[in-house]
Amino acid sequence: MLLIAIIIPLLIAGWVASDAKKRGYNQGAIVAWFLGVWLVLIVFLPLYFILRPRSMGQTRPTIGTYVCPYCGNLYKEKVPFCPYCGRRLEEDGG
Ligand SMILES: [Zn+2]
Repeated sequence: MLLIAIIIPLLIAGWVASDAKKRGYNQGAIVAWFLGVWLVLIVFLPLYFILRPRSMGQTRPTIGTYVCPYCGNLYKEKVPFCPYCGRRLEEDGG
């Protein structure tokens, strides 16, 4: 079925084109990716995933290693008082 061999890459190329548009590629680049993926899918599809800009990343808020037991905010250094809620953090040592 030659038709399937054309249609499936075409659908994938269409997805790539819409994805490229979302990532801010210009019209020429979108068309180039569309044609590239459609015609040489095996080459351009992996290439697209490598080259495309990272989407709004899953940048985890790794602000600090300590967590305030009162307000739940993270802070970087061991401080006597929470910089967010101002509660005393040090355990009473006597
Ligand atoms: Zn706090």
